[in-house]
Amino acid sequence: MLKSLDQLFEENEGKRAIGSFNVHCLEMLPAMLEGAKELNAPIIIQTSPGTAEYIGLDLLVSSIETLSNRLEINVCLHMDHCKSIDFLKKAMDAGYTSVMYDGSSLDIDENIKNTKIVTDYAKSRNASVEGEVGTIGGAEDGMVVSEEDAIYTHPEDAYKFVRETGVDAIAVAIGTTHGQYKSKAKINFELLAELSTNMEAVGLVLHGGTGVSDEDMRKCVSQGMKKVNVGTELNKSYIEEVNKTFSSATPLTSLRKLLLPANNRIKDIVIEKSKLFQLM
Ligand SMILES: [Zn+2]
Repeated sequence: MLKSLDQLFEENEGKRAIGSFNVHCLEMLPAMLEGAKELNAPIIIQTSPGTAEYIGLDLLVSSIETLSNRLEINVCLHMDHCKSIDFLKKAMDAGYTSVMYDGSSLDIDENIKNTKIVTDYAKSRNASVEGEVGTIGGAEDGMVVSEEDAIYTHPEDAYKFVRETGVDAIAVAIGTTHGQYKSKAKINFELLAELSTNMEAVGLVLHGGTGVSDEDMRKCVSQGMKKVNVGTELNKSYIEEVNKTFSSATPLTSLRKLLLPANNRIKDIVIEKSKLFQLM
């Protein structure tokens, strides 16, 4: 069934970080949930505002409701990086169970003020809210932040932000980068330790999960990361698979057969990552 991020955190405390996978097109969605089902793990399906507009909020909500009931697994439907409060309200009205307001480019007080509007609204919808303090580098839904412009989360800002907004989760900048797939990130574990020790009540969120080595990922999870975002790897792998199948297709080749290998690859990634996010 559909659950809020908060509920998933509570049910999985001490067991695992929860994988949050970006759906890029509707075709890959059943494969994502089937991957989670295979491990009986919960899953967060997240959309960028761009994907949400492309597929439609109502279609996303109803297909995820249908699939989660069919497979009997817990799913949170989350809006990733959104700077529009109005769009987040629409998403929650449509049935999203979690949203991220991204005010990371604003000064901290303005970020707090806007995020508070979202957390207040979310309460009336039983939805959860993720905020962001610090700037995670890389590209996200067309917006590019260069690595030099990425700013580590300042702990004092983060504590104040959590206290004053009442968010359920907070994205922290500890050295990962969006869209990183060619090399691996250098994580600031000292900062992670400081943040997780002082913010036990909220879920820390790791963005840019594709660029983190397995070893570092296990360390991040054991040191308190509760939600891990995986987006780039899904997009990249889907393209790799359809490039292979479409290149030899004729106009009469079954489209289904061209997409199946890509869908299967998505399922494998969800299984592999969800295993990685389990606490030993
Ligand atoms: Zn992100």
